Amino acid sequence: MSVKRIAVLTSGGDAPGMNAAIRAVARAATAREWEVFGVRNGYAGLLADAMDPLAARDVGGIIQRGGTVLGSARSPEFRERAARDRVRAQLAARGVEALVVIGGNGSQSGSAALAKEGFAVVGVASTIDNDLHGTDVSIGADTAINVTLEAIDRLRTTASSHRRVFILETMGRDCGYIALMSGIGGGAEVIAIPESEVPPAEVAARLRAAHERGKTHAMVVVAEGAKQGVHAMVEYFEGRQQETGFGLRITRLGHVVRGGVPSSADRVLASRLGAAAVACLEDGVSGVLVGEVRGAIVRTPLAEIAGRTRPADTALIELARVLAT
Ligand code: ATP
Repeated sequence: MSVKRIAVLTSGGDAPGMNAAIRAVARAATAREWEVFGVRNGYAGLLADAMDPLAARDVGGIIQRGGTVLGSARSPEFRERAARDRVRAQLAARGVEALVVIGGNGSQSGSAALAKEGFAVVGVASTIDNDLHGTDVSIGADTAINVTLEAIDRLRTTASSHRRVFILETMGRDCGYIALMSGIGGGAEVIAIPESEVPPAEVAARLRAAHERGKTHAMVVVAEGAKQGVHAMVEYFEGRQQETGFGLRITRLGHVVRGGVPSSADRVLASRLGAAAVACLEDGVSGVLVGEVRGAIVRTPLAEIAGRTRPADTALIELARVLAT
């Protein structure tokens, strides 16, 4: 397929580095003298046929900005075949031959559906959760880990001054990747994630043991998706926090985890993957997700990754435990 006109969108939760990916798609395509449209607000904008031309100069000054200049949204309607049929007709009417979708798991299920129905789509792996198959790491995950890590470092200062435990909740949906990596990097005493739940009574026992080993403070990092999460811990420690030997405080980072400027790793990954998506289309390849596996750019069929999530590597939990002694 010789492509002349493409569209690009960002979908699902915003992730730091999405702008660098948009820039890479636009510049790699315009370098080949293709026309590019930027779709506003993800699949919702695609359904509303809301898109604007995106020239090389239009994506200047965005590589360092968090979030997405195109906007993102969640669109329940896009899950319906009739809605996607309408989208295909609208894109055809504009002469748009291919679509690049920058987003996470749900977004790539949408891409897979569109690809299966006959439209040329390439997905770019982008979600702070890092739960996509077809890539070791997705755009935004590194920044999200670093934001969480900074919070851990800051909380540690006050925790050690007051002999406290901080229970810190970070994002990641049903995947514990951010909590696991930031917990290891931040030297957490306990890491509780959906892939490796820690009942509150065991959290208490481990904290007590840490206190008895002479620790002056402790950190518990909890993924938002853990069932034995912050709520369960608040309930358990009500009236018995002194069991641990420490005072106890709770911090929930929430959307702070998504914010701020993208890290160098996310900017580089986004630049590589955005350009790789365009290279796919040039090669006549679509219906794939571009990701990075062991340092190399890899194309994985969207049909293989749609509807599946990749759990965090729980072998690292054991490492965290050993190093927290
Ligand atoms: P993140 O996990 O980083 O927030 P995401 O891409 O997983 O990002 P979702 O909210 O799960 O975010 O999905 C984004 C959009 O993708 C949905 O609002 C919907 O429009 C579309 N989508 C999700 N699942 C499907 C599906 N099975 N078929 C078609 N479209 C889908």
